[in-house]
Amino acid sequence: MNLILLGPPGAGKGTQAKLVAEQFGIPQISTGDILRQAVKDGTSLGQEAQAYMERGDLVPDAVVIGIIEERLTQPDCQAGYILDGFPRTEVQANALAETLGKRGGTIDHVVNIEVSDEELIHRLTGRRTCKECQEPYNVTFNPPQREGVCDKCGGELIQRKDDDEETIRARLGVYREQTAPLVAYYEKQGLLRTVTGAGAIREIFDAVCGVVEGRS
Ligand code: AMP
Repeated sequence: MNLILLGPPGAGKGTQAKLVAEQFGIPQISTGDILRQAVKDGTSLGQEAQAYMERGDLVPDAVVIGIIEERLTQPDCQAGYILDGFPRTEVQANALAETLGKRGGTIDHVVNIEVSDEELIHRLTGRRTCKECQEPYNVTFNPPQREGVCDKCGGELIQRKDDDEETIRARLGVYREQTAPLVAYYEKQGLLRTVTGAGAIREIFDAVCGVVEGRS
């Protein structure tokens, strides 16, 4: 099963992708996580991406398309994968279609997670992320058992540099201009299913599973 999770920053794509990955035994592929790791490791990819990320801009299409093309050739992707944060532009969506076309693959579902702007800003300013394993938390909706410490790996929880209010507004603007058109793009292909991203994590997960399992 190949799945795309679409939605603005803060919609809960990462949280849902992790749950789907656990449930169905397929990898979560998050371009944001891959890029943050590259920045942390100081690789040439990280050096190229860092300034775009800190401003809340998109990293150039050619860079992220290269990352995805390479990642999809890994053996763990054979039984399927969840794309979280990719594609984010029409150029990326076309490149993905071309890559899949060459290998006889298809996208099975595109799940669009919808959340109001007000709620997104509230969530993103309260978001904390594990410095080590990138597990997402929220000080209000999904706090860790011990403040500042990851439940999963014991790593330190930090606020992402791009989760300050000014950068959040920039990221939401970028989403509206460059990524939101993908809703119509996948709707035209008959692949789009929208779920509400408001509510408890498990309720949203149930709705996502409903789409994946063909129940809704
Ligand atoms: P995310 O963790 O998905 O919110 O991504 C964090 C940042 O990484 C974004 O604000 C972009 O700067 C960059 N990024 C992640 N995925 C992509 C993508 N598909 N295209 C361009 N930039 C991306």
